[in-house]
Amino acid sequence: MIRQLDFFFYFRKIQKIIFGVFISLGLLFLNSCGEKEDPLPEGFDFVTDFELIPYDSVFVIWQGTHELNLTPKFFGAFGDEITLEFNPSIQYFIDGKKSSNPPRIPLHQEKEFELYGKIGRIKSKTLKIRVIDVDPKTYVSKFKASMADSTKAPYAISGRSFVDFNASIYDYRGKEFPENEKPDYKFFFDGKVLESLHRVPVLRSGEIPFWVEIGDKKSEVEILFSRELPDLSRKYSLPIIFHIIHSGQEKGTTENPSQEKIIELLHETNEWLQGRKSSQLRKGHNQVDPNLEFFPALIGPDGFPLPEPGINRVFSEKNSYLYGDEKTYKYLFDNMWDPNNYVNVFVMNVDGAGGFAFYPPLSDEKLSRFYGFVITKRLNTFTMIHEAGHFLGLPHPFSVGKYCLNGDGFMDTDSYNDDTKKTKSLFKTNCDGEYFYPTNVMDYFPSVHNSFTLDQVNKMRSTIDIGYFLPTNVNPNGRSQSKPWVRGVFDPGVKPIE
Ligand SMILES: [Zn+2]
Repeated sequence: MIRQLDFFFYFRKIQKIIFGVFISLGLLFLNSCGEKEDPLPEGFDFVTDFELIPYDSVFVIWQGTHELNLTPKFFGAFGDEITLEFNPSIQYFIDGKKSSNPPRIPLHQEKEFELYGKIGRIKSKTLKIRVIDVDPKTYVSKFKASMADSTKAPYAISGRSFVDFNASIYDYRGKEFPENEKPDYKFFFDGKVLESLHRVPVLRSGEIPFWVEIGDKKSEVEILFSRELPDLSRKYSLPIIFHIIHSGQEKGTTENPSQEKIIELLHETNEWLQGRKSSQLRKGHNQVDPNLEFFPALIGPDGFPLPEPGINRVFSEKNSYLYGDEKTYKYLFDNMWDPNNYVNVFVMNVDGAGGFAFYPPLSDEKLSRFYGFVITKRLNTFTMIHEAGHFLGLPHPFSVGKYCLNGDGFMDTDSYNDDTKKTKSLFKTNCDGEYFYPTNVMDYFPSVHNSFTLDQVNKMRSTIDIGYFLPTNVNPNGRSQSKPWVRGVFDPGVKPIE
């Protein structure tokens, strides 16, 4: 009995082995004669992951089937994107079943499909593709109220600002309706429905709510921060001296600009700083005029009247000065006039910058570096105002490098990263990835450079009020009275800003 059982046991085992061998051979045969995989492209060894980016992932019920438009994106072991010479062929799966390439989905009923692709052993992330039963002309998947690109920062000056709004309404695919195809909506600003979203006057200060309503649904409520314009009627007048650095060229040449050219630059600068200059290009919606001016200094450090008001012509063997070079900064320090009596501006050839400035000193200790700014002989009004902004304590509104940060700490300027910004005609992208119309004087190109904001104006005026080593606010006909200035020992550690 025992032997019989043993035999039976062995028989079953041999039967299993023979059967297994047959199955394996069969699979081998099927494999070698079955579907052949396309060769994988060069570089594919590095691919550890891929994603399928659908052109659309939501469709409206219809007859028949729809061919999906999918773009593969490949990634390496560290999540870095890999570009392949050509795309390998992909086996698609819809709801777990092999599908055609390109994949097709039936549209005749509401349904959610799960789709993924496989290349060799690598499987993509799963996508959800939906078929929904809605009217595509009126179906709204989401909507929101926002400031328009032209007036992005949600800050305004009561009684002065005109603001543009935007109602973003998204269709069944999650794409924004074009302006002329938007379903009916109402835009509320401060509780009232707006007739037009363009150039809306801001008539009060405080936190002003705005939102969009579609049918009985309401978007999130956004806030416009509106402020009263403070009293800026007191004009700040600062005596200025242009040190024109030349190498012996005749007066009136580009290298040694005439008095007229300097007066013209000063006039243009003052017109801008007091808001008397209009621009064909729209100013910032929260733009404020600083109401300050520079006037040509009349008297030299020796107490005698200057032959040319506001101008000091300095001979130098050196034709050009290098930005970033300590020697340049030492030269400026050695040659500046008492900063308590003059705003020092050097007009010189600069290698590596279009102009630069030193920020205000943080204490009234001995001044051991240059305080003033430098412009080139192009005598560009914008450069002049931009550097004057730095001189009076304004940083750039943007950040550079890895992160997108608020570059100046002011809330009413647009924050962006100048290295990574995208531009579209006159627009730049802010830290939220939205386009905005850059108008700030402290921007780099592209910007229309015709506006300061209230926070910036407050900063500049307070620098004049409480800053160190600045001519006190004097009458254009008078002269400031300050304590005598002692030149410290040059400190190369303090760097300027472009
Ligand atoms: Zn700058």
